[in-house]
Amino acid sequence: MESSSAATVSAGPSPGPAPADLLRRLRARGAADPVTHVERVPARPGVPAPWPSWAPPELRAAFARRGVVAPWQHQAQAATLAYEGEHVVVATGTASGKSLAYQLPALATLLADPRATVLYLAPTKALAADQLRAVAALELEGVRPACYDGDTPRAEREWIRRHSRFVLTNPDMLHHGVLPGHAQWSGFLRRLAYVVIDECHTYRGVFGSHVAHVLRRLRRQCARFGSTPVFVLASATSGDPATAAGRLTGLPVTAVTEDASPRGGVTFALWEPPLLPPDSGPSTPVPPQSTGDHDDLQQVRRSALRETADLLADTVAEGVRTLAFVRSRKGAEVVAANARRALDDAVPGLGGRVAAYRGGYLREERRELERALLHGDLLGLASTNALELGVDLVGLDAVLICGYPGTRASLWQQAGRAGRSGQEALAVLVARDDPLDTYLVHHPEAIFGAPVEATVLDPANPYVLAPQLACAAFEAPLTPADLALFGDGAKEAVDQLVAAGALRQRPTGWYWRHRERPEVDLRGEGGAPVCVVESSTGRLLGTVDGGSSHFLLHSGAVYLHQGVSYVVDDLDLVDGCALVHAEEPDWSTHARDVTDLSVVSVRSYVDAGPVGMFLGEVDVTSQVVSYQRRRIATGEVIDTRPLDLPARELRTVAVWFTLSPQSLTLAGVQPADVPGALHAAEHAAIGLLPLMATCDRWDIGGLSTAVHSDTEAPTVFVYDGHPGGAGFAERAYGTASAWLRATRDAIAECGCESGCPSCVQSPKCGNGNNPLSKPDAIRVLDVVLANLPE
Ligand SMILES: [Zn+2]
Ligand SMILES: [Zn+2]
Repeated sequence: MESSSAATVSAGPSPGPAPADLLRRLRARGAADPVTHVERVPARPGVPAPWPSWAPPELRAAFARRGVVAPWQHQAQAATLAYEGEHVVVATGTASGKSLAYQLPALATLLADPRATVLYLAPTKALAADQLRAVAALELEGVRPACYDGDTPRAEREWIRRHSRFVLTNPDMLHHGVLPGHAQWSGFLRRLAYVVIDECHTYRGVFGSHVAHVLRRLRRQCARFGSTPVFVLASATSGDPATAAGRLTGLPVTAVTEDASPRGGVTFALWEPPLLPPDSGPSTPVPPQSTGDHDDLQQVRRSALRETADLLADTVAEGVRTLAFVRSRKGAEVVAANARRALDDAVPGLGGRVAAYRGGYLREERRELERALLHGDLLGLASTNALELGVDLVGLDAVLICGYPGTRASLWQQAGRAGRSGQEALAVLVARDDPLDTYLVHHPEAIFGAPVEATVLDPANPYVLAPQLACAAFEAPLTPADLALFGDGAKEAVDQLVAAGALRQRPTGWYWRHRERPEVDLRGEGGAPVCVVESSTGRLLGTVDGGSSHFLLHSGAVYLHQGVSYVVDDLDLVDGCALVHAEEPDWSTHARDVTDLSVVSVRSYVDAGPVGMFLGEVDVTSQVVSYQRRRIATGEVIDTRPLDLPARELRTVAVWFTLSPQSLTLAGVQPADVPGALHAAEHAAIGLLPLMATCDRWDIGGLSTAVHSDTEAPTVFVYDGHPGGAGFAERAYGTASAWLRATRDAIAECGCESGCPSCVQSPKCGNGNNPLSKPDAIRVLDVVLANLPE
């Protein structure tokens, strides 16, 4: 939730040192200065606006009681546009008060028209619950706000449908509950005045494409009942929000992007952990990501987790309220555990003021941690980006970002937790040993000089469109007029559904043929979340998303929860549940997978002499086949154990390039070195793709081979890790020369001798980063770039 900044809960004043002094002390610890760049983000004064004349005194008074004396200019502007009936997206920074922009027109309408209703959608139940509290606290008569989600007791549901005029839910509930049961909701939908879509930038990729069609289904039902609601969207700062919101809703949307809320200045440092001496080997006591492959290394940097843990300990010791963002759940646990240990060594008991926080925790645990940080009982919190969607946890004195979060939009959102009006704060980006992170800390203009990315979604993805049309047909027969609503490819998808026997065509339209409704999961590609249960007590420790479960919860995996270590006894894929017991072994576990790929069809290609560049459909089969156990203290591999998990299949979109063997020989790549050259180029290309598209390397996969049976040539494939694709490979194909140029430069500029995780090694390599040839990868990319047209 984002409320008006005046009402935002934020941390109290801090006795800690000024950010510049703090940074000076932090960087003076080691021999070499780890800071590659310092950017001063200046403070900004707020620009208040008068209450719009249409806002009733009753509503102004209610906001005034909550501490909002006047709106900021962007709030008033967006609210007025929406009140006048324009679809609007407000895309401004963290804690800029986006809630007021939709609460104001929605609640004013509810007060003016005693029959009108409002539907509010949040990406998570927790966010909807926060927003419910905010609306309920205004104590407006006759609004009767209520959450309607999977947790709502059956007994309350009917009351909500009949009497609530401000229903808060999520896209999943809209998809599974409200739309299929539209007859029960007819009264509510008939009177629907506003649809509010909060945190709409989270609807990206395949999930976003599904949500886009759920919203089209909602619009179709509203039209059937005679209503045409106004859509009000709230987004984090993003590139071209009007276009993204337009794709999401299928409507013309006006953007409000000028942030008029005040904020404090931030000192933003880019931090590169030092290279460890070659002979010290992988001696870091912090395990890398569970799927990491840091063995066989000649040279490594000090781990970003270790560095972040030390920085967290140092800032907490200075009394500075600090939030550390860590990408993986395991990483957040490890950072908290290490910072606690370091603090306890210095001052026994001080470690208790640091905790870990992540999305899989139960709601009560998360609330308690947030409360403790706001009240200062806790000084340090290590969190996954689950907090990106959390409540107004802002106004912190320092934010540490362990590893580039994948997009500039996320980076700014995380950094935005630091600083409040009238006070300076510190933000530090700690680079991981990764090509993209390394590139960014040495090219600050790519962070501070570039606009934030646009949100990418593709409603035309046939793997999304067809099942969504099936859902729509179940709700009411599809008519030719409906097809325009669902966009390009709808007719084709309907024809396929008819051919497959799912729909029947009649003169009046297309009818769903079955009794049961189609089973479509909006977040489907990863499968349902897997529950982690302690076998001895039956206690639910948390959940892990289905896509990661094979990697994190296989039998024998070491699983960390709140710093406590558990070992998995059994992963039950049928019940979606992993049984664990508490145990603290002195090893970590690292899963490995194998991948196979075949070309289904070529969509587009560029014939560039000895080089070919392709975009097309591929089938990818991957299977987690084994895991390594490694000593935590030394990183030494104890053994590799086989696993018996099913293979997972994926039809998706890939970009690939081929080179003639002759061109490689001419460039000086010996035949024996071709596999290592291609493999190294593949890793680095995957690492740099997030520079071009709103994805991160965990959204993409790759495969390289000296001869592929489908291309009959040396080939590097990079594919979307989502069924049907999510637009990433397509974007890579469209920007191929810029993408591969940045890849080539990142490898060539890396200071290591024969390849390191900052350039050609990958933390998720199924082959243990073997073979890899750094100099030959540069030769391969030079051949491609020399032949490829700009
Ligand atoms: Zn390197
Ligand atoms: Zn690899």
